[in-house]
Amino acid sequence: MSLSQLARSISESPTLKLNETAALLRDKGEPVIHLGGGEPRSKAPIDAIVGCASLLNTGDVKYTPADGIPALKKAIIHYTEEHYGRLVSPDHVIASSGAKQSIMVLLHAILDPKEEVIFPAPYWVSYPEMVKIAGGVPVPVTALDGGFEPTVQEIADAVGPYTKAVMLNSPNNPSGVVYSDEFVAGVVELCEKRSLYLIMDDTYNRLVFDGRVPGNCYRFSKDLTIDSSKLVVINCVSKMYAMTGFRIGWAVGAKDLIRAMTNIQSQETSGPAAPSQWAAVGALNGVQSCIESLRLTLENNRNVMMSRLAAFSGVRAVKPGGTFYCFPDFSAYEKDSQKLSRYLLDKVRVVTVPGREFGREGHLRMSFCGTAKDITEGIERIKWALDPNAPNELYLGNRKLMRDWQ
Ligand code: PLP
Repeated sequence: MSLSQLARSISESPTLKLNETAALLRDKGEPVIHLGGGEPRSKAPIDAIVGCASLLNTGDVKYTPADGIPALKKAIIHYTEEHYGRLVSPDHVIASSGAKQSIMVLLHAILDPKEEVIFPAPYWVSYPEMVKIAGGVPVPVTALDGGFEPTVQEIADAVGPYTKAVMLNSPNNPSGVVYSDEFVAGVVELCEKRSLYLIMDDTYNRLVFDGRVPGNCYRFSKDLTIDSSKLVVINCVSKMYAMTGFRIGWAVGAKDLIRAMTNIQSQETSGPAAPSQWAAVGALNGVQSCIESLRLTLENNRNVMMSRLAAFSGVRAVKPGGTFYCFPDFSAYEKDSQKLSRYLLDKVRVVTVPGREFGREGHLRMSFCGTAKDITEGIERIKWALDPNAPNELYLGNRKLMRDWQ
């Protein structure tokens, strides 16, 4: 088959692939524990359902403006004012089909061929592929000290004549790390000095633990108006309201940029699905306690995961400050993360995501968005599969496994 060079260079999303694999195994009755997931278990807020159902009940479901319905933009403007202290107008906002599409149209709007986008590693799996789809070159920056947060100098060292943007995701998928104020402030300053776009992917912004306050990059910006700024903030209803399937995200940025993004989106997909937009309006304008209750559940799950991992000799785990991911280092057991992840699925039916996909070998991404029971049992199984001192038998559901390997 004759496919484009681009199509041949883009790989499948490994996390979506893993979801399919887990679903197939479950359908076959396998006792799979999914620690690879990227979505909260809770249901969408009732206000979202009511908002969506009200539109569906009219049967009048039509195209919407390419950048989103006015009611959604109004709700996003309110959100931006409340959580970022920034007053913006509808011209500064575009709603898209998920944060993913907002980032994608943004990259299409700013990148010329071969221009570079810098982001710290480990990074969200989709960043390199999205930059490539937009014709750009991904430039991951790994901290020399082996940690999850590079220094501002390391980011600055990666800036070259082709650099167009820096992209930060904090709290971070996959490490769960919340970047320090010092780092974010330094990157904001660097981007403003060098006239680079700074894309703040705040998808997990509200899901932070240990009394942290959600980050606000605008605090560090010296650009006085949003229109003179190259700072773009990305958000979505997907994670904080457990509404991944509705596919609504947004970007807030300078008017000219948003207009260019809207033109691209209008040709690519038109506006996001109308029922989903009304669901997002319902969520954003509705009772907000669901976010806090999700956050508390996740913090508790994070604590369960950390205490289980602590009892696992040889595994090093940095305590996540947010998100629902942990990124432990398993290299003492196996350096090849794809091999290890495959092995854990084959032997003990636990789904994890190989660190290689996120730009860091030897690690596995393990989600704690499931139940505390799944986390406990999943880590028990992994321990059994890796630790030579574990007992010989393990029960997977009602199936008894005997260790037949070392
Ligand atoms: N950004 C990050 C860092 C993510 O982890 C995800 C989803 O996993 C997204 C963006 C995409 O969000 P959405 O589902 O709204 O497209």
